[in-house]
Amino acid sequence: LLRVEHLNKAYGEVPVLQDISFTVNTGEVQVVLGPSGSGKSTLIRCLNGLEPYQSGTIYFQGQKIDPTPKNWQLLRQKIGMVFQSYDLFPNLNIMDNITLGPIKVQKQSKATAQKEALRLLDTVGLADYTAKFPRELSGGQKQRIAIVRALALHPDFMLFDEVTASLDPEMVRGVLEIMANLAKQKMTMIVVTHEMNFAQQIADNVLFLDDGHILESTPGKDFFTNPQTDRAKEFLQSMD
Ligand code: ATP
Ligand code: MG
Repeated sequence: LLRVEHLNKAYGEVPVLQDISFTVNTGEVQVVLGPSGSGKSTLIRCLNGLEPYQSGTIYFQGQKIDPTPKNWQLLRQKIGMVFQSYDLFPNLNIMDNITLGPIKVQKQSKATAQKEALRLLDTVGLADYTAKFPRELSGGQKQRIAIVRALALHPDFMLFDEVTASLDPEMVRGVLEIMANLAKQKMTMIVVTHEMNFAQQIADNVLFLDDGHILESTPGKDFFTNPQTDRAKEFLQSMD
């Protein structure tokens, strides 16, 4: 579904991603781990057209992506993304937050979009919150809404960057459960997380980044018990 070949990205003179190559097959969960500053967020942002890159090729659904703003805009309907900071529109209620994209971008009817929004809200236990505004919700609730908003566009692929990192501990579980359910339903996704138990539970494969390089790419069932590199071993120990 997604193939990245020899991706290089620098901020000014400083290389941030170097010769990144990997594949994510349909239905797979790729977990991206690595120390702070290793380039995880930058990689995720490159895969959604939010960051330009200097060289390399990204293929999506077998097609080489021509990285123009217009193409990325179209692709963002198929590639959903949720960040650490909930980026809901503060002046729109929950229903409008979720249906804005489907109605404006995908030209769905309001009735269709609202019906689907309600169905999705129900799956995350927030069907009663349609008329609320983001400021009236907890961090965990906002993050569940942000996931629903991304799913409302029916993406083929989801990117998650530390979506639980700014949540109070008691809010984390509900959000992780939603992502675990998506994985069970065979949503293709790339997940950056600091939650190691969760990572171990959902990872088909782990990319371990260090200093802008992929140090190892290891099946999830092996990475956590038997990483290939000392660097990854140290990293896992530091996360205990
Ligand atoms: P964390 O785990 O802390 O989120 P990360 O792995 O997501 O870290 P990135 O945010 O991708 O790391 O950053 C990779 C490197 O790029 C860091 O050295 C960072 O300082 C640098 N960097 C990130 N964004 C910018 C920017 N807009 N301008 C210049 N340098 C940047
Ligand atoms: Mg980051």
